[in-house]
Amino acid sequence: DLFLHTLKDMYYAENQIVKSLPKMIEKAHDTTLRSTLESHLSETKQQVKRLEQIFQGLGEKVQGVTCAAMDGILDEAKDVMSDIGDPNVLDAGMLSAAQAVEHYEIARYGTLIAFAKRLGRSDCVKLLEETLAEEKEADRKLTAIAESQVNKKAA
Ligand code: ZN
Ligand code: FE
Ligand code: FE
Ligand code: FE
Repeated sequence: DLFLHTLKDMYYAENQIVKSLPKMIEKAHDTTLRSTLESHLSETKQQVKRLEQIFQGLGEKVQGVTCAAMDGILDEAKDVMSDIGDPNVLDAGMLSAAQAVEHYEIARYGTLIAFAKRLGRSDCVKLLEETLAEEKEADRKLTAIAESQVNKKAA
């Protein structure tokens, strides 16, 4: 039950990310930040499909449940975007919001993989591991962009 609940939580969360990323991409000033967010948006759409595949494999309805944590992180991102005027500082703020999203996802997918292993669902493990690898790579790229350029320009 908890495994299924957490899958639904992430299905909701990934769909909210798909809705929010275009606004961040539109506002991104740094071209590397923008292209990284763009490619992660297309990955995120695939992640939604992977979750659908998992629900289907489990014989469960494709369904989300409100993830208050992701709503909160994305709310904060929205505040950052409306409060900051300086484009370089805005980039730094959005980048840090994007990393909060990735870290939440990494935590949840780590748990889902552990649950799926315990439940003997290697089909789910495989799909969840593909997604986790993408989240970690997105986080790694964002760190590199922050450290190499965005934070410097914002300071
Ligand atoms: Zn929940
Ligand atoms: Fe994701
Ligand atoms: Fe959640
Ligand atoms: Fe992500």
